[in-house]
Amino acid sequence: MAQIQPLRGTRDLLPEECRKIRHVEARALAIAKLYGFEEIETPMMEPVAVFKRSLGDTSDIVSKQMYLFKDLGGDEIVLRPEGTAGVARAFISEGLTQNLPLKLFYRGPMFRYERPQKGRYRQFYQVGVELLGVDKPQADVELIAMAQQFLGELKLQGDIRLHLNTIGDAESRATYRDRLRHYLETRKSELSQDSLTRLERNPLRILDSKDEGDKRVVADAPSLAESLNDLSRAFFDGVQEGLSTLGIPYFVDPLLVRGLDYYCHTVFEFTTNALGSQNAVLGGGRYDNLISDLGGPKTPGVGWASGVDRLSLMLQETPKDVAPVAVVPLGDEAEKEAVKLTHELRAAGIAVDVGYSGNMGKRMKRADKIGARCAVILGSEELAKGIVQVKWLGTGTQEQINRSELIGKLRT
Ligand code: AMP
Repeated sequence: MAQIQPLRGTRDLLPEECRKIRHVEARALAIAKLYGFEEIETPMMEPVAVFKRSLGDTSDIVSKQMYLFKDLGGDEIVLRPEGTAGVARAFISEGLTQNLPLKLFYRGPMFRYERPQKGRYRQFYQVGVELLGVDKPQADVELIAMAQQFLGELKLQGDIRLHLNTIGDAESRATYRDRLRHYLETRKSELSQDSLTRLERNPLRILDSKDEGDKRVVADAPSLAESLNDLSRAFFDGVQEGLSTLGIPYFVDPLLVRGLDYYCHTVFEFTTNALGSQNAVLGGGRYDNLISDLGGPKTPGVGWASGVDRLSLMLQETPKDVAPVAVVPLGDEAEKEAVKLTHELRAAGIAVDVGYSGNMGKRMKRADKIGARCAVILGSEELAKGIVQVKWLGTGTQEQINRSELIGKLRT
């Protein structure tokens, strides 16, 4: 019978990978608490409307990446491709609209039907934050500062850069969309097939196309900055001033648009030089119309999401669990006593690993392999005297300890 493999683009997180992923999530949560955010968990499945109404039909996610299926009741269900739309849906359906400003943190798996490669999976993990109810640039600046602190404290390989742009308010975007479309029409024959389909409904997406022909066309395109109205320009100035005040380095990337309908004004992305082509590690922006697009009261918002899988690939060091103590009995009688001793140590909060079987050599090898801090060796002589031998695996030194003093000794 053919062996069953995991689905393409999904992977088993073996213990070491799991440790890395949880470490990144735990750091994100700690930083979120530092900034006054609280955790929320929304379902991994949502009605399809949650994403269609918010991300927009022309976004890559909705048009070609959603895991969409009918359940047995005939409802159209999506495995969430991102976190913001679900949090916004929860904000409305849980009646949180009176609790502004609201600061929420989430983490968990997301699902996108993408072409898998290093750092890109069909099930991947994100941490993210949403700040609802604040329409001032200060909120955008605070979230970017938080992202920078999070990435900085993780101790990652390579360098991180912050790309910043504004896509303006709806009025500025409408003006720009017309100018851009007008220009692109003149060079239509040079555009890729994908870009031709975007030309009518979402020409801004062409700006961040990876196609070489598109890039040449985009190089001469009119800039979005020139289409900004006063309000949009003032907002972006506010964000830039705030970042400068905090000494946060950034560069303005006029081609950054982020491709989802719900964004307005600020968009940003942190990239790395350590991962090859999948270089985005965190992205976000402002979304003042998202809540109202989903049927809630008009509520401004800003947020970001970060790819935990990618960050875990970039950690300089693998985080370690608390090193356990290995209990090593010699002989049948000691074997029984070791079960009791193990139980006592664990009850006292000391992590213990047991080898279950094998001679001393085999068990000591296992103790080494799992990174035990010491081996507590128990033979018939030790039993008779009420003592144990403790071998510290780091230094190789061994000492004799009374059973009654063991817990105290291992706690220090
Ligand atoms: P996005 O929601 O597309 O802005 O994604 C936010 C972050 O999630 C990105 O910067 C990536 O780090 C990560 N990410 C997005 N898609 C994937 C994927 N298919 N596999 C792994 N990480 C991803």
